[in-house]
Amino acid sequence: MSGRTCARVCPERTCVGCRERAAKGDLLRTVLVEDACVPDRRGTLPGRGAYVHPTTVCLDLAVRRRAFPRAFRGPGPLDTAALRRYIEQSARAEQTTP
Ligand SMILES: [Zn+2]
Repeated sequence: MSGRTCARVCPERTCVGCRERAAKGDLLRTVLVEDACVPDRRGTLPGRGAYVHPTTVCLDLAVRRRAFPRAFRGPGPLDTAALRRYIEQSARAEQTTP
């Protein structure tokens, strides 16, 4: 049972897309606002959160598996347009960084 102290220092969360565990800081927290998934960059918005890698690959996986409605215990498909826009923008910003 040694070598697990990191779990306390750096909390892990599971990505709802690829289902892999990652440090909380490597994942994007999303919360449900009405029927839309919105990015919670600072992790300060209230309510239930779902964690996903900030990549379109994981977002697509999460959408295809209906992971967001499940994570938020919502009834049906949720609007992920704002989340997608955010992820696409941050991906582009990363690419253009010299
Ligand atoms: Zn992922």
